[in-house]
Amino acid sequence: MTLKKPTVIVIGGGLAGLTSSILLAKNGFEVTLIERKKYPFNRVCGEYVSNEVLPFLQSIGFKPDDYGASRIGKLIVTSPKGNALKADLDLGAFGISRFTLDNALFEIAKKAGVDFLLQTKVNDVQFADEKFTVQTGGKTLTADLVIGAFGKRSNLDQKLNRSSFYHRSPYIGVKYHIKTDFAKDTIQLDNFKGGYCGISKIESDLYCLCYLVENRYLKKFGGIAEMEENILHQNPHLKNLFGNSEFVWQQPETINEISFRKKSLVENHILMCGDTAGMIAPLCGNGMAIAIHSGKILAEQIVVKCSTGLNSKKRLQLEWSYLDTWNNKFALRLKIGRGIQRLFGNNLLTELAVSALKNSPSLTKKIVGQTHGKSF
Ligand SMILES: Cc1cc2nc3c(=O)[nH]c(=O)nc-3n(C[C@H](O)[C@H](O)[C@H](O)COP(=O)(O)OP(=O)(O)OC[C@H]3O[C@@H](n4cnc5c(N)ncnc54)[C@H](O)[C@@H]3O)c2cc1C
Repeated sequence: MTLKKPTVIVIGGGLAGLTSSILLAKNGFEVTLIERKKYPFNRVCGEYVSNEVLPFLQSIGFKPDDYGASRIGKLIVTSPKGNALKADLDLGAFGISRFTLDNALFEIAKKAGVDFLLQTKVNDVQFADEKFTVQTGGKTLTADLVIGAFGKRSNLDQKLNRSSFYHRSPYIGVKYHIKTDFAKDTIQLDNFKGGYCGISKIESDLYCLCYLVENRYLKKFGGIAEMEENILHQNPHLKNLFGNSEFVWQQPETINEISFRKKSLVENHILMCGDTAGMIAPLCGNGMAIAIHSGKILAEQIVVKCSTGLNSKKRLQLEWSYLDTWNNKFALRLKIGRGIQRLFGNNLLTELAVSALKNSPSLTKKIVGQTHGKSF
């Protein structure tokens, strides 16, 4: 056994991968992060970040106010017919584009000493004799540890034969940046047949408009604009929003195959974090917080277990303790998220839920609280 700190390759430079890389590099680990894109770039995401991440982000030198992030403290949920439920968000959130947030963490990671391979796609990962071999288009790299932070769906899920890859998901995601007349301190979730749409303020004079919808409606109507007109606009709030806003991009960002199924946390000794470990329904508004938190927990476990070297016994101890901690922190939240996702996928149930919750502020508060975590 070597007494040296293990070398680490992180696959995927979203919030989970960036977080674990920053913390490992700050603790003296040699880290290479491989990301298939080049910063800064846009992603499909509602860009509403739960304030539970604030102490951690501040500890690594990121302050949302420095980037003009909005402060969000109010929630409005509308039913497909336009019935509105209002609530205060106890913990609150901030609004910032992924273009800005991920790029800021990329800069922090570079300063911390993380080595980046950008515009590089990982095609395969093999584990043998306590070493990983990572194949990209042009290079073969080796490392003692590999972190899988490659998001909700990647070529690597198929390569690793993960069961979650083979279950088709009915959802697609669509995102715009818009200029509009809307409260700066509010996130509004507008439900419609087969999906929901969030709007909230981000930096500059922009708002993020992002929705999740069953892809059968896209197939049925043949295009995004046609689907929006026939499905989303049935909610009067959305019809008003789409009709009275300036859309700053020519085309929206889109993704498909968004699945909330349970996933494996360790696969062929690769340690998964962020959406690669499991994704919470976007309606809960804290996938980013979970991505950051899981990246942090994983890095902390590696620091504690492997700072004086790594062998097969220590590797297994690391894997078990990460599994245990992840399940304690996130398993219930993801389960509640799946339940909420099912409820809001149904028109009638959404109407009933919004009407019932309007008369029960304490229950509303409890449900919102259950989906959000504690500050870390
Ligand atoms: C419609 C929608 C709305 C959402 N809204 C919100 C919201 O408002 N608030 C919130 O908190 N969460 C929201 N989420 C969830 C949030 O976006 C995710 O939970 C979060 O982005 C997960 O971060 P991550 O780092 O795990 O993955 P990602 O941010 O997806 O990063 C994964 C990275 O891996 C890279 N990658 C993949 N494969 C490879 C490969 N083979 N080689 C190299 N690189 C690779 C990708 O390019 C990507 O950059 C939303 C999600 C959806 C779908």
